[in-house]
Amino acid sequence: MQIYSPVQQLNFNSLNSVYVKRDDLIDPYISGNKWRKLKYILQDVSLKEKKHLVTFGGAYSNHLVATAAAAARAGLKATAFVRGEQVENEMLLLCKLFGMQLIFTDRESYKDKQQLFTSYFGNDEQAYFIDEGGASAAAVKGCAEIITELTENFDYIFIAAGTGTTAAGLLKGINQQKLSTQLHVIPVLKGGGFIKEEVSQYENDLSNLHLHTDYHFGGYAKTTPELLHFMKTFIAETGMLIDPVYTGKLFFAIYDLALKNYFNKDAKILAIHTGGLLGILGMKERFFKI
Ligand SMILES: *Cc1c(COP(=O)(O)O)cnc(C)c1O
Repeated sequence: MQIYSPVQQLNFNSLNSVYVKRDDLIDPYISGNKWRKLKYILQDVSLKEKKHLVTFGGAYSNHLVATAAAAARAGLKATAFVRGEQVENEMLLLCKLFGMQLIFTDRESYKDKQQLFTSYFGNDEQAYFIDEGGASAAAVKGCAEIITELTENFDYIFIAAGTGTTAAGLLKGINQQKLSTQLHVIPVLKGGGFIKEEVSQYENDLSNLHLHTDYHFGGYAKTTPELLHFMKTFIAETGMLIDPVYTGKLFFAIYDLALKNYFNKDAKILAIHTGGLLGILGMKERFFKI
């Protein structure tokens, strides 16, 4: 399948050696790395002739919207176990419109996903288990293709990480092609050191992997006025939307490191825009306050 994800030069302040791979443009609903992750999962679903995608996520999960949209387009049923008490928000509205069935699940039961799958759908031969965020070897394979699409070399590639599956795919792609590119990962959760272990589940050679664990802004989906200010300026100056959960923190980190002269003068830097822009809708109040 042909996709549209150009590499564009960023025009923001002094960041003119930064390029962006626009995976956010692949699709408005199956966006960015969620498209990459689902690609080979959906191939496997089709191969195994399954008709019902069953997956897991929080109430603002980009993965749920992506899975719902992908299922609808492929003529598949979709069910999601949604972590926490019943809520109504923009993301879940889209899931419902795409025909996904939502099962709100308390945090304790949510922990054992395999158990949930078996107890609800153990007898459904059409059902196909997709882990939270799509995490799987198939997802890693899909994300590695970001590297094979590149037509020039970069000294640095920057990526935001939640689970680290996408980072694992990028590292796999870099290692497979024997590139000297250094992969720099911005965990968006507090205590992001665990990303290294996640990546090592899929890839042995971690020598080109670097984590920057100080750009979480208080934790997952947490923001500060400084981050929100940065995002507003960035979006207005570049015309490129970023979101507060992932790519806002990613571009802040690149900007901050550049200010601190972290990069060589001639370094070529590529940031992967992983999409997820619908997440902005859940944070309206924060932006209106800035
Ligand atoms: C899910 C998501 C990520 C995190 O991907 P992982 O593979 O879990 O690290 C990054 N950016 C966006 C926009 C996402 O939706």
